[in-house]
Amino acid sequence: MRIENDPKLDFKDVLIRPKRSTLASRANVDIDRSFRFLHTGSEWTGFPLIAANMDVVGTMKLAAALNRFGAMAALHKHYAEKDLVKFFRSEDSRNSFYSLGTTDADREKLNAVDKQVKITKICLDVANGYTEKFIEAVAITREQHPDAVIMAGNVVTGDMTEALLLAGADIIKVGIGPGSVCTTRRVTGVGYPQLSAIIECADAAHGLKGLVCGDGGCTVPGDVAKAYGAGADFVMLGGMLAGHDECDGEIVYETRGGKKIPSKMVFYGMSSDTAMKKHSGGVAKYRASEGKTVQVPYRGAVDDTMQEIMGGVRSMMTYIGAMRLKEVSKRTTFIRVGAQLNTVFGES
Ligand code: 5GP
Repeated sequence: MRIENDPKLDFKDVLIRPKRSTLASRANVDIDRSFRFLHTGSEWTGFPLIAANMDVVGTMKLAAALNRFGAMAALHKHYAEKDLVKFFRSEDSRNSFYSLGTTDADREKLNAVDKQVKITKICLDVANGYTEKFIEAVAITREQHPDAVIMAGNVVTGDMTEALLLAGADIIKVGIGPGSVCTTRRVTGVGYPQLSAIIECADAAHGLKGLVCGDGGCTVPGDVAKAYGAGADFVMLGGMLAGHDECDGEIVYETRGGKKIPSKMVFYGMSSDTAMKKHSGGVAKYRASEGKTVQVPYRGAVDDTMQEIMGGVRSMMTYIGAMRLKEVSKRTTFIRVGAQLNTVFGES
């Protein structure tokens, strides 16, 4: 047994220190980034925010809406082949990832779709990216899809970030346990404070010209700003994008003044009982559910939420004098503030 004594930090443990700046207004900052990907050499420009590949938010409708903001989405993996082909032929898919796990069926479906319409962005996603099998899956996907940008995860340490980049991934998805509907830390005791995970994985990835996507744990726009400050090239959001018209969640109504109005929306983790009942007939006997089901406030169209997130990032940039999003991590100094115990369990 070993204990690491270095402090490991979450979003709630830090604030970003303001810096002298010549920027007059948040209108003068540029929140788009341009990336050249490690293995494909292809380029992408846009606002590097990604809707999570979860049932409720990884929807085609949300992907289309985020595309209009130059942002991205990773579709959930439960769409039918014909619907995926139709979607990836449309302009709405410009910023969308095709998501899959590591089963043969997942791979066969991707290859079948790819034969009909070229898939240019792939999200290879498992809860635990630390297995030999996962490294193999990344290598096979790279071999079979040499021109596709591959995002792979999840991991939380530099060694595994490097291993997955060397196996063929372009972007490493970082986060184990921080998700708003994740119970991994509670059920297994495993996890890593998300801000530190991003800092350490970004450092490892950037040394190899790879990229990282901070996945999970953002509850307010300031957390997204902190993730970029920590070195995240992309930020993935589940809960912050749940509760919108473009989601697939069940709507809960309440009656006010004799009228039925939408008040909440159901949101659940991809390894919650809800998801497992929906997709695989229940939780298998040998495993515990590592996700929960919650109700989030109903918030109408996603546009206002996106404006709020983009506005928060822009404003942070004026506070630290960063004209471009690319400069943010270089200009970020975090100040440690009182740690809040409840973040250990990914709950607020
Ligand atoms: P959020 O933005 O809601 O805090 O986090 C979203 C992330 O939580 C997803 O992208 C995914 O990595 C993670 N996640 C989604 N469902 C589950 C689940 O059931 N269990 C766990 N451990 N993580 C989940």
